[in-house]
Amino acid sequence: MKEDYYELLGVSRQATDDELKKAYRKMAVKFHPDKNPGNKEAEEKFKKVSEAYEVLKDEQKRAAYDRYGHAAFSGGAGGGGSAGGPFHDPFDIFSEVFGGAGGGGSIFEEFFGGGSSRGGSGRSGAQRGSDLRYDLEIDLEEAAKGIEKEISFRKPVQCGHCNGKGAEPGSGVVVCPTCGGHGQVTASKGFFSVRQTCSTCRGTGQKIEKSCTACGGEGRVNETTKIKVKVPPGVDTGSKLRSANNGEAGIGGGPTGDLYIVIHVADHEIFERQDENLFCQIPIKFTLASLGGTIEVPTLSGRASLKIPAGTQSGTTFRLKGKGVPSLRGGYFGDQMVRVEIEVPTSLSSDQRQKLEEFALACGDADEPVGKTFFGKAKKFFD
Ligand SMILES: [Zn+2]
Ligand SMILES: [Zn+2]
Repeated sequence: MKEDYYELLGVSRQATDDELKKAYRKMAVKFHPDKNPGNKEAEEKFKKVSEAYEVLKDEQKRAAYDRYGHAAFSGGAGGGGSAGGPFHDPFDIFSEVFGGAGGGGSIFEEFFGGGSSRGGSGRSGAQRGSDLRYDLEIDLEEAAKGIEKEISFRKPVQCGHCNGKGAEPGSGVVVCPTCGGHGQVTASKGFFSVRQTCSTCRGTGQKIEKSCTACGGEGRVNETTKIKVKVPPGVDTGSKLRSANNGEAGIGGGPTGDLYIVIHVADHEIFERQDENLFCQIPIKFTLASLGGTIEVPTLSGRASLKIPAGTQSGTTFRLKGKGVPSLRGGYFGDQMVRVEIEVPTSLSSDQRQKLEEFALACGDADEPVGKTFFGKAKKFFD
């Protein structure tokens, strides 16, 4: 089991960026390979604390880690548990996003290729809330007819105690001690000095005197949110629905992100779907195939009757026009393809057997057990 990042750095879950940085520096100095030559244990530890800091120093990665633990950055769900146990809540469904592609990527990067760039964090310090993804599984009937579903999930919402301002009500605002109110700091890198946005105040030049006791100054708290999602008829696996302003709350008065619902249509017992068309296989008796008749077939809108002409061969496919799935853009329905398979009886009563033998005799089948057409084509094999 992977160790908790906060525990590794020896800080609380509410640690500020500065506290994180200090803790990391202390650890890094202590376990640096240069200081501990040949000490594998120290090297391991150095790697671990570096990894922890890489994640926690990044606002979005930290938020993802807070909610999903290590699963946020490694393949698959299931693991973790040490990180505050977020695995029992309905947000589990999100873990799928983290698996597979682009190891180390967070939900935001994978889905939108770049995370928080939209809305930016300009001098105002306001930051747009992250977009979220919710994977919704529905069945084929729901996909074809459309449905309204209520989904619930946890996400950061505006803190009610401080109205998203991050300050304890009644507490004032002071000049940021890190940058002296400039909003920028100068860091020296070798011979160069680089001006950077102050991380303490995120460029605002101000600092809250007393952080909100409910949200720790972030202006947001995690809450379970319920929303109704209208799934239009015709969606398929991979269809994405955008639910505006249902993502994470913004920071520092920034706008709320969006929620993207990604549809997964479950496999159906009878139908296979290909775009708007449905395919199914239906067994029919060989007598019916020979004599012809009508059968009832299942469709998404109830039963339909299908005429089987006399002499139907096994594997013949019939088309039921308009019995497929509607086009998502509207305008037309796909078709339902019914492939019939001829069933041969596995046991015969003596009476049935006798009649079939008579039938075979009447057809001359005893002398010619292979079909005439085929016999003609494959003549050379039968010489
Ligand atoms: Zn608050
Ligand atoms: Zn500052």
